[in-house]
Amino acid sequence: MEFTALGLSEQTLAAIDDLGYEHPTPVQEQAIPVALTGSDVLACAQTGTGKTAAFVLPIVERVAPRGRISSLVVTPTRELAVQIEDVAKTVAKRTGHSVLAVYGGVAYKGQLSKLRSGVDLLVATPGRLLDLHGRGEIDLTGVEMLVLDEADRMLDMGFWPDVRKILNLLPAKRQNMLFSATLSDEVLRVIGGAVRDAVRVDVAPASVPVDAVEQYLYAVSAAQKTELLVALLHEIDEYRAIVFTRTKLRADRLTAALRSSGVEADTIHSDRSQSQRERTLKDFKRGKHALLVATDVMARGIHVEAVTHVINYDVPESPEDYVHRIGRTARAGETGVAITLLAYEELESMKQIERVLGRALETRDVEDFKYADRIVPRPDRLTVKRSVFGGRRGGGRRPGGGGRTRRF
Ligand code: AMP
Repeated sequence: MEFTALGLSEQTLAAIDDLGYEHPTPVQEQAIPVALTGSDVLACAQTGTGKTAAFVLPIVERVAPRGRISSLVVTPTRELAVQIEDVAKTVAKRTGHSVLAVYGGVAYKGQLSKLRSGVDLLVATPGRLLDLHGRGEIDLTGVEMLVLDEADRMLDMGFWPDVRKILNLLPAKRQNMLFSATLSDEVLRVIGGAVRDAVRVDVAPASVPVDAVEQYLYAVSAAQKTELLVALLHEIDEYRAIVFTRTKLRADRLTAALRSSGVEADTIHSDRSQSQRERTLKDFKRGKHALLVATDVMARGIHVEAVTHVINYDVPESPEDYVHRIGRTARAGETGVAITLLAYEELESMKQIERVLGRALETRDVEDFKYADRIVPRPDRLTVKRSVFGGRRGGGRRPGGGGRTRRF
């Protein structure tokens, strides 16, 4: 299926190009044509399925920019709000919509000045939205299209009374799209009232639950990360790996360092031109380079099958990013390995991630690697017995075969 078959305009197709998407995901394929007819949509789709574009694209198609809030996306967390804003802003560069995300936990000032200068598409978490509405800063009477994103999560987090209040502030005549990872009877009973005569769209999750990915930590000083990575890669016979760094600069430096150590690598980040990015991705898909160095932002557009390893050269800043990154492997029922290089400075972020995962990750060492100055960071850490690597694929050997469990 091609995006051109979905009934989208030229400028939206150009925006999809900018996003780097080549083919629609199942939820996009199913939800976009329905939404374009003006029907309400009730979609069972979780994060990782491409749901964001499945609602952003119909919004820009159906609601012209007017300088007042005419479409509203309500989402449970700040991270999601920022991600949606990101996608919508890229699209809006082509369509001329003004996009803003408002969420709690930050000062009002920046959000207020942007609101006052006119917004077409507002992305919001429920609390901050009601708060700003209460202060008379938001007018919702012009909303023609509403998206409730991750409705089940909003329910879980106790936001539903707020969502109800928001629904009451909207014009009765509007189009609704509701996305939820689960649509159990119970969830439907509560949230179902928000959409009428909706066309239901169900998609199997495209990204695997994190449990399908084997995850390991390698403790190493920040200064030795590159050296350790090279040693790790030597332990793996065959791989197609994505390595994540925190910044573009680090991605460039790492790529250069890997190349000078004889590792075939290329990098993809937003400072590179669209054509460079496309070529890099194509080369990676064809297997010209077995290793792609990427930043989080770029990783969103990467959908490559059979990625055997995701390596976090830097620990991601949020648990969402971690889950997102490791979801790049173990797609379509395959197994995958996620490796995180953990420096002392990154312990706090890692602890947060483990809290979300609900467990401490197994730690490993590269045998015979000359660890220098490694601070033993965590005496209270759980030690998990080394498990045998399972699920071998394509003759590849998993890294860490010679690893020992170590308390750190
Ligand atoms: P979402 O479920 O909206 O959070 O999207 C999951 C990831 O898939 C994000 O990183 C998107 O950038 C990416 N994505 C969404 N649609 C496509 C597509 N059609 N082709 C490639 N990547 C996509």
